[in-house]
Amino acid sequence: MASLTERILQVMNNPNNIRNIGIIAHIHHGKTTLTDSLLAGAGMLAEELAGEAMFTWWHETERQREMTVYGAAVSMVHNYENQDYLINLIDTPGHVEFSGQVTRATRAIDGAIVVVDFVDGIMPQTETVLRTALKEYVKPVLFINKTDRAITELKLSPQQIMERIGKIVIEVNRLIDKYSPPEFKGKWNVNVNDGSVAFGSAKFHWALSVPFMKKYNVSFKDVIEIYNQFLEDKEKLKEEMRKKAPVAKVVLDMVIRHLPSPVEAQKYRIPHIWKGDINSDVGKAMLNLDSNGPIVINVTNVIIDKVSKQEIATARIFSGTLSKGDDVYLIQAGRQIKIQQVAIWKGIQRINVDSAKAGNIIALVGIKGLYPGETIVGKVQDPKSVETFEEMRHWLDPVVTKS
Ligand code: GDP
Repeated sequence: MASLTERILQVMNNPNNIRNIGIIAHIHHGKTTLTDSLLAGAGMLAEELAGEAMFTWWHETERQREMTVYGAAVSMVHNYENQDYLINLIDTPGHVEFSGQVTRATRAIDGAIVVVDFVDGIMPQTETVLRTALKEYVKPVLFINKTDRAITELKLSPQQIMERIGKIVIEVNRLIDKYSPPEFKGKWNVNVNDGSVAFGSAKFHWALSVPFMKKYNVSFKDVIEIYNQFLEDKEKLKEEMRKKAPVAKVVLDMVIRHLPSPVEAQKYRIPHIWKGDINSDVGKAMLNLDSNGPIVINVTNVIIDKVSKQEIATARIFSGTLSKGDDVYLIQAGRQIKIQQVAIWKGIQRINVDSAKAGNIIALVGIKGLYPGETIVGKVQDPKSVETFEEMRHWLDPVVTKS
C-alpha cells in the first residue's frame, strides 16, 4: 500500500480529484471540533503524531482552543469509490470585522460545509457566512452538528430528530434561495435524501446521511441504543459510534460527491471572482484550469510562523504549474522573485514538492513582502498587464500572526 505522502503526490496531479473547501459556521457551532475529527478520522494525524506526541499535541490543542489551532490550511486524503481524493480544508474566518479576509479566503475555496448546531439552529452568523460564500460562487453542503444532544439532553425520538433536521434543512435552503447566484437558484439547495445533508456529532466522531443509513442499514434507533448502552463510558461510546457511523467517511463522501472540483468550479467562478478579460490568454487558461498555461496564483493568507519566524503564504494556483526555481512576478508589489520552495499540505504538516499544478492549494515559505491578496504571475509576456484579484486597498489589512 502506498504511503500517505505517495498518495497525496499522485492525487495532486489529478485536479478532478481535488476539493478545495472551507467550514463555515456560527461561532461555537463546532467548526474546530469538526476539523479535528475529520483530520483524525481520515487518518491524517495518526501517522505523524503517534503515541505520546499525539497526546501532547491534543493537550496543547485543547489549551489553545480559543486561538487558531492550525495554520491557514490542512489537507486530507480520502478514498471514495476506489479512488483517492485530496481535500484541502482552508480556514475562513467567521467574523464580519475581518470581511476583507473572509472574502479573500473564500476565493480559494469552491465548496463549503455549513455547520449548524442541532439545538441552536440557524444563527445570525450562519446567514452572514453563507451569504459571503454564495456571493463568491461557493457551493454549500450542510452538516448538522451536536445531534448527540438530541439524544442525551432533549431525549427526542428518532422521528422527532428527523423532524427537527427537516426544519433546519428548510431554513438553510431558504437562505440558499435568497443568496444563491442567479444561475444556481434552485440548483444549490441541500437535500436530505441525496446526501448533501449529514447530521451527527463532531465531538463524538459520528455522522449519518440518508444514503449512508440506507447502504449500511443504520438507523437512529441503533444510535440511541449505543448511547444508552455506553452513556457512562464516553471513550467507549466514541469508539462504538466511530465504528458504526464514522464522521470522516460520511462527511468526506458528501464533500466529494456534492462539492465541485477546481476543474468544474473555475468555469463558472473565474468570471465572477476575477475582473479581467475572460477571452485573454490568462482568462482562458484560468477558465480551463490549464496547467500548461500562464501561471496565475492568488495569495489568500499570510501568517508568521512562531518557531521559524518565516512568512508562510497560502495560495491557490488558478492556472499554470509552479515549480521550484521559477521566476515569477508579484503584481501588487511590482517585483520579480525566484520561487525557492513550493509546499503542499499533508494533514497539518507542510511537505515540499518540486512543482504544483493549477487547482492546488500551496504554501510559499519565506517570501518577504508577500501580502494577502497578492496576484502572482509567470510565463506571460507582460506580467504588469495582467488583471489582479484584488485592488491595492486591501494592502493595509493586518497580517494575521499564528499564535
Ligand atoms: P467553533 O467556535 O465553531 O470552532 O466551535 P468549537 O468546535 O470550538 O465547539 C464549541 C463547543 O461546542 C465546544 O465546547 C465543543 O466541545 C462543543 N461541541 C462541538 N461539537 C460538539 C458535538 O458534536 N456535541 C456536543 N455536545 N458538543 C460539541
